[in-house]
Amino acid sequence: MLSRQIRSFMRTTLSIDTTQWPEIWQSVYRMLEQYIVSTQLTTWIQPLEFVKSVPSEGGIKIHFNTPTDFSAQWVKDHYKKLMENAFSQVLGSPCEVLLLVSENPLDLTQQEDVTDEPPILEPVHITQATSSRHQQTSRLWEETSVDPRYVFENFVVGASNQFAHASAVAVAEQPAKQYNPLFIYSSPGLGKTHLLYAIGNQLIKNNPDSRVAYVSAERFVNEMIDSLQHNRMPSFRKKYRDSFDMILIDDIQFIAGKKKSEEEFFHTFNALHSTKRQIVVSSDRPPKEIENLEERVRTRFEWGLIADIQPPEIETRIAILKAKAEREDIYIPDDVATFIATYVKSNVRELEGLLIRLQAQASLSGAEISLEMAKNELKTAIPEEGSHFTIESIQSAVAKHFQIKLLDLKSSARSRNVSLPRQIAMYLIRKYTGMGFKEIGHYFGGKDHSTILHACTKIERGIEGETEIRESVESVQNLL
Ligand code: ADP
Ligand code: MG
Repeated sequence: MLSRQIRSFMRTTLSIDTTQWPEIWQSVYRMLEQYIVSTQLTTWIQPLEFVKSVPSEGGIKIHFNTPTDFSAQWVKDHYKKLMENAFSQVLGSPCEVLLLVSENPLDLTQQEDVTDEPPILEPVHITQATSSRHQQTSRLWEETSVDPRYVFENFVVGASNQFAHASAVAVAEQPAKQYNPLFIYSSPGLGKTHLLYAIGNQLIKNNPDSRVAYVSAERFVNEMIDSLQHNRMPSFRKKYRDSFDMILIDDIQFIAGKKKSEEEFFHTFNALHSTKRQIVVSSDRPPKEIENLEERVRTRFEWGLIADIQPPEIETRIAILKAKAEREDIYIPDDVATFIATYVKSNVRELEGLLIRLQAQASLSGAEISLEMAKNELKTAIPEEGSHFTIESIQSAVAKHFQIKLLDLKSSARSRNVSLPRQIAMYLIRKYTGMGFKEIGHYFGGKDHSTILHACTKIERGIEGETEIRESVESVQNLL
């Protein structure tokens, strides 16, 4: 959250000084991260350029430049409301967001249907956002760089993640000495990406000349495909095999079954490993459970150290909540922290998301966060005692909401009009019954573990970033 000083300044002047902008933007951006998936943030939000703020009827109008008509329209349709909420919350006054295309204001209300392809935008790192476009574009964000916000200092350690944390620290302090590769796995939202970044940040802190790359497996694959298409494989190989002292590869399960990518990764791995450079890999499951992974790649993962992260115990959940609240300057009473931590068990991202939503409510209504507020916010998320949250009731509610046949929902048909509802049903069953992935698969005509896991991850992300998915999930929950 913003320093109190800036907040009170803002309240009286209702305008933003450009020197305050980076701090304000950073706070707003953190909130947006709770709702918008990172690829969307990079494409649509990061390129926005702050132009000016103007006081208006007790509130503030904030003007942004966007690169094209299309992006202005897109941001207006998808993110304007969220941005306005976030700004209002951060600045403590009602805010309106206005989008302009370079110097020309775009009358968004009269915009014709826009059919251009989304532009390919050069992302700008948020911590380097300034008010000058010139400065912005000259400091492009290197996409393989490490996010400086995730460090060991703000990672809360408890029994559930102690081993993974200790392994990560060991690797950061003594890269490629004992544990190479380090393989960290867990369900989503338990801190894998945080630990990967923390390792990179620690290495850079210890030795500022170190060259560290963070790359998601998805990006690795896309970059490889792109390089293949444009005859740039030599430079792709040079980049990943020769240019870094340490490589952090996130969500490696993504390469499984993609032959060419696995092969490329295999050679990258060998190049790094044989020259004593550290490799850290994360995954949503242990190597032996990654289906369709080439045996030689799996074997290499097993050469090093494999560490898992389990869902945190209640004490750790409370500690994580409190640490987050303190960092964001949010006051959360003990009973509320305990209450939330009691019910949100299996995902730290959800835990933090709830805190941010409570803060949003509190500041919009001008009240402090209270137990009552938390209970309301959680209502949809908590399965009531002896509730209606059974597999059958969830499947029926989904079928009813989407107006499809129950039989189709449980079938293997692949068309999107049944596959999305099916994934939503899988997600809700997991959420409300806590049933294992394999078992859930059983109720959908014998789908395997990875199909259910994929569905849960996809819907979870969708809830953060896609209105259609979020609204469907909410409607189904209301039917339950
Ligand atoms: P994963 O990569 O496993 O899906 P992330 O690393 O993205 O999970 O973590 C999700 C969110 O939870 C992040 O904001 C991260 O900072 C936070 N988080 C997870 N574990 C911890 C922890 N032990 N202490 C503090 N924050 C945590
Ligand atoms: Mg992650």
